[in-house]
Formats: sequence, C-alpha cells, structure tokens
Amino acid sequence: MAKQETKGNIGVTSENIFPVIKKFLYSDHEIFLRELVSNAIDATQKLKTLASVGEFKGELGDLTIRIRTEKGKLIISDRGVGMTADEIDRYINQIAFSGAEEFVKKYKDNAAAIIGHFGLGFYSSFMVSKKVEIVTRSYQEGATAVRWSCEGTPEYEMTETTKDDRGTDIILHIDDDNKDFLEKDKITSLLEKYCRYLPIPIAFGKKQEWKDGKYVDTDEDNIVNNTQPAWVRKPSELKDEDYKAFYRELYPMADEPLFWIHLNVDYPFNLTGILYFPRIKSNMDLQRNKIRLYSNQVFVTDSVEGIVPEFLTLLHGVLDSPDIPLNVSRSYLQSDQNVKKISAHITKKVADRLEEIFKNDRKAFEEKWDSLKLFIQYGMLSDEKFYDRAAKFALLKDVDGTYYTLEEYRKLIASEQTDKEGGVIYLYTTNPDEQYSYIQAAKDRGYNVLVMDGQLDVHAIGQLEQKIEKTHFVRVDSDTIDRLILKADAPTVSLTDDQRQALQQVFRSRLPKMGKTDFVVTFEALGPSANPVMLTQGEFMRRMREMSAMQPGMSFYGEMPESYNLVLNTDHPLILSVLSDEEKACTDKLQPILSDIKGWEARQHDLREAQSKKKEDELTEAEKEDMTNTNRTLDELRGRRDAILTEYAAGNKVVGQLIDLALLANGLLKGEPLSRFIRRSVELIG
Ligand code: ADP
Ligand code: MG
Repeated sequence: MAKQETKGNIGVTSENIFPVIKKFLYSDHEIFLRELVSNAIDATQKLKTLASVGEFKGELGDLTIRIRTEKGKLIISDRGVGMTADEIDRYINQIAFSGAEEFVKKYKDNAAAIIGHFGLGFYSSFMVSKKVEIVTRSYQEGATAVRWSCEGTPEYEMTETTKDDRGTDIILHIDDDNKDFLEKDKITSLLEKYCRYLPIPIAFGKKQEWKDGKYVDTDEDNIVNNTQPAWVRKPSELKDEDYKAFYRELYPMADEPLFWIHLNVDYPFNLTGILYFPRIKSNMDLQRNKIRLYSNQVFVTDSVEGIVPEFLTLLHGVLDSPDIPLNVSRSYLQSDQNVKKISAHITKKVADRLEEIFKNDRKAFEEKWDSLKLFIQYGMLSDEKFYDRAAKFALLKDVDGTYYTLEEYRKLIASEQTDKEGGVIYLYTTNPDEQYSYIQAAKDRGYNVLVMDGQLDVHAIGQLEQKIEKTHFVRVDSDTIDRLILKADAPTVSLTDDQRQALQQVFRSRLPKMGKTDFVVTFEALGPSANPVMLTQGEFMRRMREMSAMQPGMSFYGEMPESYNLVLNTDHPLILSVLSDEEKACTDKLQPILSDIKGWEARQHDLREAQSKKKEDELTEAEKEDMTNTNRTLDELRGRRDAILTEYAAGNKVVGQLIDLALLANGLLKGEPLSRFIRRSVELIG
C-alpha cells in the first residue's frame, strides 16, 4: 500500500489562531508544558481504563511519560492510547474557534482563560515552537503510525510513518525567542511546579551521580513526580508522620503545623485535599495564598481566593477538585454553585475538626489556642455560620493563663461581675504589664480579668457584646475599681462647688501639656485606702480610637485627642490636706474675688433668663452690651481666681508628685518630666 500523504488546512474558523497564540498568550508561555504533559497523562489513563474493562488486551508495560531535549527540540513521549489519522483529524485539525477574535480581545491578558475555554491545550505548544510534530500510533491492533507536522500556519502535513511502540511523541522545535525552555533547570522547575503530583510517573532524563570529578547520568530514570501524594491516599493509610512529611515537602521552610484536615468528598462534588493549620507566632507569619489548587493532580494555581472563604486562606495545604471551573474570572467563581458548596463544605469541616480536637483533647487545644486564636476570630467575625459553630470552642484566656469557653466564663463571673442594671461586665487588659496595678485591684475585689491583646480582639469584643445579651467589656483601667462594675449608686462626693473648682484648678495647672492628649479632673469618694489620684480612660472613646486606627472611614474618632480622667479621691487624706492647705493659703485673697464672681454669675443668670424670651433681633444695643460686659467681667474674675490657684499650686510639691505618680502608673511619664519627678522624689525623701 502506498504511503498516504495529506496536506490540509486546520479547521479554524479564524485564520488568526497562531498570531493569537503567540502574541496574546505571551505572559503564560510556560503552561504549554503542563498542557502537553496533561494530555500524555490523559492518554495513559484512557489506556489503563480500556485495559481494566477488557477493551485493551495487550501489555500495559512501562507507562512512564518521558521528557527529553535533543538538538533544539523538546520531546514529550507517552505510551498511552495514541491516535489514528482519523483521530488527529478530529481532535487536532478540527478545532473549534468560533468568535475567536472577540473573545481574545476580552481576555487578552488571561492566557489560561483562552486555552481552557477553547480546549487549545495542545496548541499552546505553538507559544514556544516554530514547528510542532506529532508522531503517534494508536493502541488499536494493526494501527498505522502517523506523523503530523505544522509550522505555526493554518496548514499542516500528515503522513504515514513507522513507530515501534504505541503512544505519542510530541516534538517541539523550540523557536529562537524561547530557547530557555530547552534548559535543564528551566524544565526542571516547570515540572516541579505543574507536574509534581501527577498520577503517572514522569521521567526527565536520568538520575546523575558524581564520578571522576563531574556528574554523569546513571541508568536510572529521573522521576520528577510523586504519583501518590498524601491527599489522594486514604486517611486510614496515613500516620501523623506522613502528614507532617507531606507538609514539609510543600513548605520546607515552615514550622510543623498544628494539625490538619483531610478532605475527601465525592458527592455532590469531587473534592480531596489536606488543609493544615499553620503555627502563627506573630502577625508577620500571616501568609495568604499558601493553599495550592489542583485539578486531578495537575497544579492549577496557588491563589484560592473566591474558592475558600477569606479566613480560610490563612490555612496551608492542597485542594484538588475537577469540579472547580478553572479558567473563569474570580467573580464568576464566587457565584458558581459548586464553588459555593465546596466553600461551605470546607468551612464546616474546619469547624468540625476544631470542635473534635477541643472535645477529645481540651488540653492540646488550649496549648494551641494562642496560635489558633487569630484564625478562629477572623472566621467568627467574617462568617456567621462559623461563629455559631465556633462559639462552642472559642476560648477566653485570663491573666493567670486559664482558658474558658464563652459559656464557662459567663458562669464564672456572673455572680461577682453583674452590675446594678443586670449587665455582666467582662473586665480585660490589653497589656498585663502596663495595667498591672488595675488588674491587681480588680483581682483583690474578686474579679477576673481577661487578656485581650490580640490583633482582632477589639472587633471580637464588639461581636461578643452584640451576640451575648447583657454583656459589656470594660478595660480594667477605664474607671476606678468602684465604678468598673457599678453595683449600687456610687458614694457621693461632699465638696462645695468652690472647693471643686479650687481643686480642679490646682491640679489642672500642674498637668503636663501633651499634644493630642486631654485631661479632665474629676472627683470620686473611693475610700481612704484607695489611691489619692488615678488616671482612667473611658472605654467607649478608647475603643473607638483603636478601631478607627484599623479601619478607614472612621478617622473622626482617630483624630480625637486621647482623653484621660484624672480622678481625685476625695476620701484620701492627701487630697483633703491639699484642699485645706490651699484654703489656708488662698482664702484671704480668693474670698473677695469669689463673692464678686457669685454676684456677677447671678447677674449673668438673670440677663440670660430675660433675654432668652426675646428673639436675637429684638434685643436692644444696651441689652447686648450689658451681656457682653457681664461675660467679660466674669472671665476676668475667673482668670484672677485661677491665677491665684495656679500660683499656689506651683509651690505645692504634693500636687505635682501625685500627678506624676498617676502618669507613671500609666506609662505616661517620660523624658524630662520623669527626671524632674525623680529629683523631686529624692528631695521629698530627704
Ligand atoms: P483537551 O486535552 O482539552 O481535549 P487538547 O488541545 O489538549 O484539548 O487536546 C486535544 C485532543 O487531542 C485530546 O482530547 C486528545 O484526544 C488528543 N490528544 C492530545 N494529546 C494526545 C496524546 N498525547 N495522546 C493521545 N491523544 C492526544
Ligand atoms: Mg489537553
């Protein structure tokens, strides 16, 4: 029989397929190797399937896929089903490419989308080749081998040929611009990236050995892939060591994982994989996009956003699912029903696994909590369903290092820490060292204090307050101990208005001037044994400031000055003695001014009263002037009063010392004021 020879045109409706492939698919050139090796895998697995159902009766033999280079050529050979001339015609020549130009315009930056969309896997070889040949022989008995070749134009040539073995050789004549794809290191790294876990052995050259001062090939194939990666094996076959070894293989630099989840679903979608919980030591360790996505063991991408919920992108590991549409946009992915189900399934599995560890080994769970906390909080904050599940095992840690579930903690504090309105007050510290004296005071009262020093704690606190009725979180230093948890009305402060004003001015005049920090002097009757002066910072404003620091759009609170209350304990002898000393020193000078102030205040009051009944434009010039004069006189009198008190305060060593002590207790005394404090302390001792 004469050798048959065919020339023809590739059945592309657009003439432009080759320029398109060369030009637009530029960025992802390297994927040609993945596509060709995947085809070889498909062909091999088809043959195995045929053999298993008895349609192929020959010897399967060695099925290794081989990759080699030879004089400017890169050759991929398999011993799979091969193709008849007919099949080449159908599967290679007749490629559907309708609407190509429009599509290419739309997706010109996304080579993967085009290739996947049109099943152009094989044609991606033209991204790097000036000529491609297929030499193939079908597994079917008596099949004739065929050589197909094409030089990147819409014309191809097909001739009969001879081939000893069944299967296919794809021969790429690499073009001048892409010579690097002939380099051993380049090929090795691509195989490593895309083919590392493919299910059929892939050989790239031979294993080498060191001999006579150089590396030489041995007889042994250099197999580049692990055909049975941990995730495709049965969980029952795997030991902890195997999971850890696989983790090391994936992330050689990472610390040992905390634990892992082996996913294995085949209905209603296909999903396998292993997700690892990494050990998070600091926020620096937070690395997204560590999960690798595979489709039937072919590497697809390491960016899984849109496929797994955001908080799970902190996990590491591998997902493998042929049911995730691969070459579509992220937004399409998120609306895909399968992807939604997969995402929900993974979330549920993660929650189940955490709960299981919590239930079976509470101690181990507690030991890992600090590393897990950020991740679980993130999940609780971003996913309602996850919150509901995690609320059972999420932990709170107190300053003594004891862990409680939300429910346990509620029980623990309910009796001692309920205020007069029935609210349960959760006391917490953000810094056990800095807030030490407040924590101590709370503990002395029989209160428990939580440590909330994590990155997401401020948000977690807000969430718990919303979710658990009658729950209020209050930082230990946000008020004096009596007022942290108000059990009854606070004892009243018995000072006259004049006394209040005097003390306020005496202390205010000695407060340091710090940009962006405000102090308000307040009074409380805290009992003689409590500190004379304390600094507190209201919970609400502080929290708003903290949250705004993390969130854009809340800059209003961020701009607010930091505001502290300087609380004077009116039961303390030192405060009482400052007051009586001030009265002794200033009363004579102050008395006439104070009585003037009273007179003018009465006048101001009357004027306001009278004028409030009239509209602005009904006021006469005289009335307006009267008011202005009164205000000015009052300002002036108060100024004189304050000046006397300021002068007195300047000579009072106790006031400065008390303020500095309060600042010191809050870490606010620094630099020059600190050294002045130390000098003054020494003098006072002497
Ligand atoms: P896809 O793999 O998505 O079908 P490709 O362009 O990669 O698209 O391949 C087209 C077809 O060519 C395949 O479906 C297969 O029938 C055939 N083919 C490609 N490579 C081989 C091979 N190595 N052995 C046998 N058939 C192959
Ligand atoms: Mg393919």
